[in-house]
Amino acid sequence: MLIEDRKEWPRNRLGRKARTPREYGSTMFDKVLIANRGEIALRIIRTCKELGIATVAVHTTVDQDAMHVRMADEAVCIGHPLSAKSKESYLSELNIIAACEITGADAIHPGYGFLSENSEFVEKVNEIGIKFIGPNSEHVRIMGDKIEAKTVMRSLGVPCVPGVEEGLDSFDDVRNAALTLGFPLIIKAAAGGGGRGMRLTNGLDDLEGAYERSRYEAQLSFGNDKVYLERFLGNGRHIEIQVFGDGRGNAIHFGERDCTIQRRHQKLLEETPSPVIDRQTRQSIGETCSRAIAQLGYEGAGTIEFLYQQGQFYFIEMNTRLQVEHPVTEAVFGIDLVEEQLRIAAGYSLSHRQEDLVSSGHAIEARINAESVPGFIPCPGQVDLFHSPGGLGVRMDSALYNGYTIPPHYDSLVGKLVVHAANRDAAIARLDRALAELIVHPIATTVPLFQHLIADPRFRSGDYDIQWLESWIGDFNGTEVL
Ligand code: ADP
Repeated sequence: MLIEDRKEWPRNRLGRKARTPREYGSTMFDKVLIANRGEIALRIIRTCKELGIATVAVHTTVDQDAMHVRMADEAVCIGHPLSAKSKESYLSELNIIAACEITGADAIHPGYGFLSENSEFVEKVNEIGIKFIGPNSEHVRIMGDKIEAKTVMRSLGVPCVPGVEEGLDSFDDVRNAALTLGFPLIIKAAAGGGGRGMRLTNGLDDLEGAYERSRYEAQLSFGNDKVYLERFLGNGRHIEIQVFGDGRGNAIHFGERDCTIQRRHQKLLEETPSPVIDRQTRQSIGETCSRAIAQLGYEGAGTIEFLYQQGQFYFIEMNTRLQVEHPVTEAVFGIDLVEEQLRIAAGYSLSHRQEDLVSSGHAIEARINAESVPGFIPCPGQVDLFHSPGGLGVRMDSALYNGYTIPPHYDSLVGKLVVHAANRDAAIARLDRALAELIVHPIATTVPLFQHLIADPRFRSGDYDIQWLESWIGDFNGTEVL
């Protein structure tokens, strides 16, 4: 399918916006290949089905009985025989492109992780006439280099974390930059992700060790040892803005998500609205973000991440894909963000004007990882009994089923429990109720952690920073509750 001018949303006989496959007709993709696995692959398949788009799953031999394989219309094994390695399967550009050609898929949805932020892959796919559902390769490339991302964002009027904006090639450069910036500092990998390659340093004594460890980890994880320095904003909160651009200079935002509850710089629980952001602040930072995105000519979904400290926003990075935590935004706006992605990629204009977007109530997501707390040790294995919570305002995105074996080779996220209610207190009560209903027997999960966390008065007060959960886990380890 070729994309020409932006299309207006098709109207049905009654003049309403079309939603059904028949109404989209030939103006939508015929077949989308989902280059991912687990809950996110299933999530994307669901929207495609509702829009009448055929789906192709890809998988390894280990994943041949996975739910995304069962739910897709077609499935292609892209794994090296008997190998479950991501490198030889979900990360294999060649295998995924071949799977598109075999099945005649006209677009690829990358989900999150894997190839979702690989600019070379985006370029290759688009070059051969398959539409990558996401921004163009240049925007993926810019945002994939966190140093360049900050330079570009700053030039677009987005406030950034104070730091050194060029790669530091030697320890002497690092030392000089650190002395200029002042301690405490955080050393970060330019190509970073998933909290890897990040090291806190409190003074010259531990600077060299932190620099070496950060470079080593960056090289190991990303094949690139470029690092940079930032002021450490330990009392900040993680606030991110969901944006969408149409690639033609129009953009909207869907408010914020608060992802301050983190362990080892990785999110565990996310919510919207943030307990610390008022309407005016939201509007102001939201407008700053959509203006930047519009100026960039950005296409598709993006998330602009900030640390928020003492009433100020500091940009840290932009993710050029769908986020794990997107369902909380969907819950309060009642909008399917994957449908938005598909529409934009198929050449439609944005489906909403900023002034028409209304959010209602409060949503929280708890990441259900197959990990035993408090050590967070991965616990793969066979699920004998799976029971998903339900009821009003409860959404469980998971690819688990009775008898499924969670493989040890991939991420330990096995589900996302999302609740929506009129306000924060009601959402916490609903999450508590839903957590008690969830059964993943006999696999250890993060459920007990959340049960204790949401009962804690400090969590309930909404008053904490990005470091709080780790200290709380320390206290929680000392208890005999688990
Ligand atoms: P990644 O891409 O690896 O996830 P991010 O830059 O998004 O890395 O940062 C992840 C988390 O690390 C943030 O949410 C925050 O908790 C912490 N972090 C990052 N930069 C800083 C900083 N300058 N000061 C304090 N904490 C930071």
